[in-house]
Amino acid sequence: MAEHAVVIAGAGPTGLMLAGELALAGVDVAVVERRSDQNLAGWRAGGLQSRTIEMLDQRGIVDRFLAEGQVAQVGGFAWIKLDISDFPTRHPYGLGLWQNQFERILAGWVGELAIPICRGREVTGFVQDDTGVDVELSDGKRLRAQYLIGCDGGRSLIRKAAGIEFPGWEPTTSSLIAEVEMAEKPQLGTHRTALGIHAFGRREYEIREGNVVYKDVGPIRVMVSEQHPAPTGEPTLRDLSAALVKVCGTDYGVHSPTFISRFTDMARQAAAYRNGRVLLAGDAAHVHSPVGGQGLNTGVQDAMNLGWKLAQVVKRISPESLLDSYHDERHAVAARVLSNTMAQVALLRTDDRTEALHDVVSELLGMDEPRKRFAARMSGLGIHYDLGEGHPLLGRRMPDLDLVTANGPLRVFSLLHAARPLLLELGEPGGFDITPWADRVQLTYAAYAGPWELPAFGLVSAPTAVLIRPDGYVAWVGDHSQRGLSDALTRWFGPPAGV
Ligand SMILES: Cc1cc2nc3c(=O)[nH]c(=O)nc-3n(C[C@H](O)[C@H](O)[C@H](O)COP(=O)(O)OP(=O)(O)OC[C@H]3O[C@@H](n4cnc5c(N)ncnc54)[C@H](O)[C@@H]3O)c2cc1C
Repeated sequence: MAEHAVVIAGAGPTGLMLAGELALAGVDVAVVERRSDQNLAGWRAGGLQSRTIEMLDQRGIVDRFLAEGQVAQVGGFAWIKLDISDFPTRHPYGLGLWQNQFERILAGWVGELAIPICRGREVTGFVQDDTGVDVELSDGKRLRAQYLIGCDGGRSLIRKAAGIEFPGWEPTTSSLIAEVEMAEKPQLGTHRTALGIHAFGRREYEIREGNVVYKDVGPIRVMVSEQHPAPTGEPTLRDLSAALVKVCGTDYGVHSPTFISRFTDMARQAAAYRNGRVLLAGDAAHVHSPVGGQGLNTGVQDAMNLGWKLAQVVKRISPESLLDSYHDERHAVAARVLSNTMAQVALLRTDDRTEALHDVVSELLGMDEPRKRFAARMSGLGIHYDLGEGHPLLGRRMPDLDLVTANGPLRVFSLLHAARPLLLELGEPGGFDITPWADRVQLTYAAYAGPWELPAFGLVSAPTAVLIRPDGYVAWVGDHSQRGLSDALTRWFGPPAGV
């Protein structure tokens, strides 16, 4: 039986990101993926939020994604635009990039890290004991791992087999999505009328002055709401035609579909992200309506949170209890995503009263303070892990400051490329001694003279030193007294060497 430290079920966005994070930390990881190649049938996510873009920047791979996508103010709440161009980040925008492209580029990076992906095979079951997990595959083979991670999507077999509850809310709406030919050309763009929501587009587009301009060629991509939440099961061309007639009065002579699928606003979240040696991330841990474009982003960010923690546990640097912080931090984030998404679905109903409410919210979000607060939430830039009382940076993302070091100018994010923790000393040099953690934590002295500003929060006082986790969140803020530093180092990066 082949053995790996970690086996990941699913090479979607979450599984790929997690595999990359583990490999960067030097962990022996293998991925099992049902699809025979990375190609996705149809389409799903259409873009990345600012914080996800920042995280790719933290690993030095963001240019690959920026080169293929379209930078624009694509963020919104219930289709109400939220402009983040004034946010203090190097990436004050979203990126229009189809999930197919995103997965292809990410898989390229994973390939460079030489991570084995067993494609065309499924995880069909597992048995865990005190020391590891026996993972059963559809070809009859077995793998042995210390940990099994379910990144296997909303219908996660891993979640079900681990006996993890998935409570939440049943669907209230359903929509069809399809790629088709049409005899008559519909008006491209998104539409919300008293009869329902619908959108027409094409794969190829440009964003000009904030507006999506579709190419004139290629099949039509359709999204149309259904009158009643439809039963599960494969939708047909007849279903699509009927839904279009109800909402648009015509089906535009729809024919030759290459893909038809259905999504709903079902909202569910795993009650626990871990059961022993089995953990969940991405859609396996949370599902919700695609409105607001949060799913892929939340999954990729789950992976960034889990990767370094799991690596430290596998390498016996940290106790298993570090994994509990993965549940605590990421369950809270996805719970907020679910409630925000449910609010958006409610606001997008098309009756007159909801329309009036939508207008009111739109007016509110036009004001600076609410816009910033909701934009920080939707872009992921406002995520704040509860790491206790202290400086406002504690538990928030470290800004990508332009530093001056003995070796010349350097960006903070470039110090995170190898996914290693970082103690950044900004006052007088030489005050900090972290020798017992020197094998795990980098210590860098740098000068920075500019302002410290957090999205939607504003200016904060300049710290003397910050301890930054590999996922880019601040674990400790302090000064040369070093009060609390060794506790923070121990809590996040294991006990000092020799203890
Ligand atoms: C119409 C639509 C639009 C969307 N728009 C957006 C958007 O704009 N922004 C956004 O952030 N999100 C969006 N989403 C959500 C996004 O697509 C998902 O959140 C994202 O794909 C989740 O990634 P994942 O890796 O967790 O799961 P998945 O992408 O579902 O990947 C799971 C992988 O596991 C594999 N697998 C499943 N079972 C097994 C098994 N037993 N063994 C081995 N492999 C297995 C699957 O083949 C798959 O490759 C949208 C979704 C839909 C449906």
